[in-house]
Amino acid sequence: MTKTADAVIIGGGIVGASALYHLAALGLRNSVLLEKDGLASGSTGDSAAMVRQHYSNEVSIRLVKESLRFFQTFADEFDGAEVFNPLGWIFLCEPEAREAFDQNMAQLKSLGVRTWEISPEDASEEMPGLNTDGLGPVAFEPESGYADPRRSVDAIVRKAASLGAEIRTHTPATGLIVEGGRVSGVRTARGDISAPVVVNAAGPWAEVVAGWAGLSLPLEISREQDVVVRPPAGAPPLRRVVSNMVDRTYFRPEGEGLILAGVGHPKENEPADPDEYRREADDGFVEDTVRLLEHRLPRLAGADVVSSWAGLYTITPDWNMMVGAAPGIDGLYLAVGGSGHSFKLGPAIGKCLAEIIAEGRAATVDVTPLRPDRFDDDAPMRSTYGGNRA
Ligand SMILES: Cc1cc2nc3c(=O)[nH]c(=O)nc-3n(C[C@H](O)[C@H](O)[C@H](O)COP(=O)(O)OP(=O)(O)OC[C@H]3O[C@@H](n4cnc5c(N)ncnc54)[C@H](O)[C@@H]3O)c2cc1C
Repeated sequence: MTKTADAVIIGGGIVGASALYHLAALGLRNSVLLEKDGLASGSTGDSAAMVRQHYSNEVSIRLVKESLRFFQTFADEFDGAEVFNPLGWIFLCEPEAREAFDQNMAQLKSLGVRTWEISPEDASEEMPGLNTDGLGPVAFEPESGYADPRRSVDAIVRKAASLGAEIRTHTPATGLIVEGGRVSGVRTARGDISAPVVVNAAGPWAEVVAGWAGLSLPLEISREQDVVVRPPAGAPPLRRVVSNMVDRTYFRPEGEGLILAGVGHPKENEPADPDEYRREADDGFVEDTVRLLEHRLPRLAGADVVSSWAGLYTITPDWNMMVGAAPGIDGLYLAVGGSGHSFKLGPAIGKCLAEIIAEGRAATVDVTPLRPDRFDDDAPMRSTYGGNRA
């Protein structure tokens, strides 16, 4: 028997979960989330999930402010679930970034972000033993931090279910039902679901889903690796989340005394097939990342590697998500192309998309600059440092 829903969301990552919850909160309670595997089994589950606010365009700053508020009040909204660690974020920049840094800091402050510049000496106090060679400006955000991505998705989806939404894990969408330029449902192996609204939040598989409606999306999939190390006994614990433009690394505390690290931009994309890519990190990546980490924090010399993995970035031509109505197909909406920095934006993006669907416009943040057809109109988003760095 065909089920009828208010909306079907394809994808159980942070974006799909947020869209589902906010749709239910806005009254579209009879909605269904389809996840082909387990919740957060795509990019979200592999994410470093760092939540910083240093962006260089207004829409991203407004979105990340809304997401930060979401994480700060998460436990109240989601039945006591504690998923956010507001440890503060430090941004180590190279001297050549001074001009862009100053512009960004001025804009961030004017939009109400709590951030200020600190000296390399202050940064050394935050991270005892910090090697300050090559450091230019350093930014500090006291309210930023990192989240637990899997527990975030679980709690959001559980709350959506309590409002009436249905969650179907291990249930791939296998096709879209499109008639006369309008989507009217989704096909699954367990039967069709009839719905006037369908959200494509399929992460690295978004282009496959869009293809069922005859759409082609300008997305590139790239492999992205992370490593977790155990510092040697006696090393001072890392207390902040850090993005390090100077050595192209990012690192943050993980669990009990461990450190999670990865390599940032600029770097080459590593094209990957989402159904068939190497999930283990490369030995060369692990060695290079640990070496760069120890160069900046020499007290980590001799750290043991605990674990490592590879996940996927889904990258748009301007490194910002595509959010809004799908061009030419009524009822189909896109929230795709996380571009390596959209765990933190996911909660706000899902909320804005839900507002567009339920109310005709996104009142929380005007996401028009992220509209999916911006590349056809030659109106890409601009950012200062390149890649996923803002
Ligand atoms: C190693 C790594 C580190 C990162 N670090 C950060 C960070 O520090 N901060 C940050 O903000 N961002 C970071 N990111 C990026 C961030 O994780 C992603 O932008 C974000 O998680 C994307 O979420 P999503 O919901 O769009 O996609 P996903 O999490 O990939 O969710 C899509 C889901 O759709 C499902 N799906 C696909 N096709 C179908 C189908 N046919 N039927 C049903 N379900 C389907 C998939 O199984 C998947 O679970 C990182 C990413 C990686 C890989």
